[in-house]
Amino acid sequence: MAAITRLVKRTTTTPFYSLARGFSSTNTHAPPSQNRNIQWVFLGCPGVGKGTYASRLCKFLGVPHIATGDLVRHELSSNGPLSSQLSEIVNQGQLVSDEIIMNLLSKRLADGQAKGESGFILDGFPRTIKQAEILEGVTDIDLVVNLKLREEALLAKCLGRRTCSQCGGNFNIASIDIKGENGAPGMSMAPLLPPEHCMSKLITRADDTELVVKERLRIYNELSQPVEGFYRSRGKLLEFELPGGIPESWPKLLQALNLDDYEEKQSAAA
Ligand code: ADP
Repeated sequence: MAAITRLVKRTTTTPFYSLARGFSSTNTHAPPSQNRNIQWVFLGCPGVGKGTYASRLCKFLGVPHIATGDLVRHELSSNGPLSSQLSEIVNQGQLVSDEIIMNLLSKRLADGQAKGESGFILDGFPRTIKQAEILEGVTDIDLVVNLKLREEALLAKCLGRRTCSQCGGNFNIASIDIKGENGAPGMSMAPLLPPEHCMSKLITRADDTELVVKERLRIYNELSQPVEGFYRSRGKLLEFELPGGIPESWPKLLQALNLDDYEEKQSAAA
């Protein structure tokens, strides 16, 4: 409860400049302009690439990328009082309790606020209707991007994920090549390979085994998919089907977000 109070405190002391007022699923929102405080959410199945696209977008827009999965992994590696409880839950592909997640998120937001951060893109939160209701009760989310990828690719993408244990960079060694069939187009996604110096330091997440990924996908469909409907009914959901790997998807995502000429607009407004 204290965590939620802190979240309320944080969000009410920050001015909200809603970026996409009147946003609808037909995507007619305005792009961010200077002094506007982005408050976006990225939704999507495990393996879809939420982290990749959310973190790229954060660098592009200059806002913090807050991934609750990263907060959980950080807590796990800190060997704090919650670690053993969390590792059991995460390694079985289950969701951490709303209370623990709210605590971790509130602390992250408070730390960010103390450092003068403004706005955010949330990745991996909310994941349940309860979390969505809490968030909706304390702040005004402007836009929710729902990333989608063909199911055939999701498992391979999760199993191909690698992180460099030294620099923390995220990579993917999966090479996806889905043949076109019965009128459905084919799709290929090149691997996202690490630079030479990271090659020998790659590690795989403990919860990226086939069994656990399948359980996470099942849980996503059961508990997290309803969150899409929650935001759709509020006119905040932008559906974005990834057409392939980063080279094809990134420009299209910017276009869908009305950000394709963002840099030009920023410098024109400066
Ligand atoms: P992915 O999207 O690949 O499944 P994440 O890195 O977002 O993985 O999350 C890893 C794990 O952290 C999840 O399987 C879950 O156990 C926990 N977790 C992350 N975010 C939440 C959340 N909002 N609510 C509950 N558990 C969460």
